[in-house]
Amino acid sequence: MKKLEDLILTYKDFPKKGIDFKDVLEILQYPDIFQDLILKMSSTQFLKNAEAIISIDARGFIFGSAVALESSKPMLVARKPGKLPGQLLTREYDLEYGKNSLSIQCNALKKFDSFVIVDDLLATGGTVNCVSKLLHDQRKETLGLLTVVELKELKGRSKLDFPVQSMVTI
Ligand code: AMP
Repeated sequence: MKKLEDLILTYKDFPKKGIDFKDVLEILQYPDIFQDLILKMSSTQFLKNAEAIISIDARGFIFGSAVALESSKPMLVARKPGKLPGQLLTREYDLEYGKNSLSIQCNALKKFDSFVIVDDLLATGGTVNCVSKLLHDQRKETLGLLTVVELKELKGRSKLDFPVQSMVTI
């Protein structure tokens, strides 16, 4: 019988030498474990107080939309460059392996004041911090981060000024 931890696969030196890439996609091939994970993520206390979820491109969308359905919360997306139409708020950030930027659609953001961020993995915290700063600049509140995997060694949690609920700590 497989457990959630068994479904987080490690690929050495991907996408760059020195990075141990943690692949969460195997979880999707085990519906019972996936469902159990979504139920657990959806029962997090700080999620109950949030008006909406904001999911991060791209694996965050998989888990975020399932949590949004289970918790009956609206969901927004934070996307990588060139993907979203309309008026956008954009911010650059540092990755464990490189630089990127994320954008949120202004019209969607206007409707809500408090958010829970959902992503597949917390590493250095740069990605989540970028989204939280984008929200903060618009006077929106981040109530917490829900993530499937947390890479403890990189201490991403210590850079965030809101609670983190991770399902697997490595
Ligand atoms: P960070 O900004 O360093 O916390 O990185 C988190 C984001 O980058 C998440 O959206 C992850 O999907 C991705 N990421 C960073 N490091 C890894 C890793 N070692 N394995 C898989 N995804 C990663």
